[in-house]
Amino acid sequence: MTVASILKQKPDRLISVSESASLADVAAVLTRENIGAVPVLAANGEMIGIISERDIVRQIAREGSGVLSRTVSSMMTKSVVCCAPEDSVASTMALMTERRFRHLPVRSNGRIVGMISIGDVVKRRVEDAEREAESLRDYIVRG
Ligand code: AMP
Repeated sequence: MTVASILKQKPDRLISVSESASLADVAAVLTRENIGAVPVLAANGEMIGIISERDIVRQIAREGSGVLSRTVSSMMTKSVVCCAPEDSVASTMALMTERRFRHLPVRSNGRIVGMISIGDVVKRRVEDAEREAESLRDYIVRG
């Protein structure tokens, strides 16, 4: 199973924020869209970072709620790790576990075509395991 099969089941729109958005803006987007992270795009559409709810919580814990008016570009993670549509779901799970983040932008031909989360990956792996168990059951019953 590939990342492309996960993207097929998700709405075909990329939620992102611009580099000039404030942390309060990002918190509002994460809440409204019920997601945990967003890619940060420059004016030319290029992805220049990623910011997750964890970054916002950490920053507030360190410096207080005043940071909410600061721009996202001062707080995002700039070296973003991406995956590709043809990557296996198992490899993205291993990558997220090893690097300790829960979100991966999906890049194809230099363009971000979607985002997957650890939740999407775990859901897909459970569905695959259930399907495999079902076929084994059928095979045993039918002989
Ligand atoms: P998360 O577990 O996704 O909430 O993110 C934990 C930390 O990793 C935060 O500092 C994020 O900005 C960062 N992060 C999340 N996803 C990625 C990614 N794909 N590449 C690089 N850093 C990331």
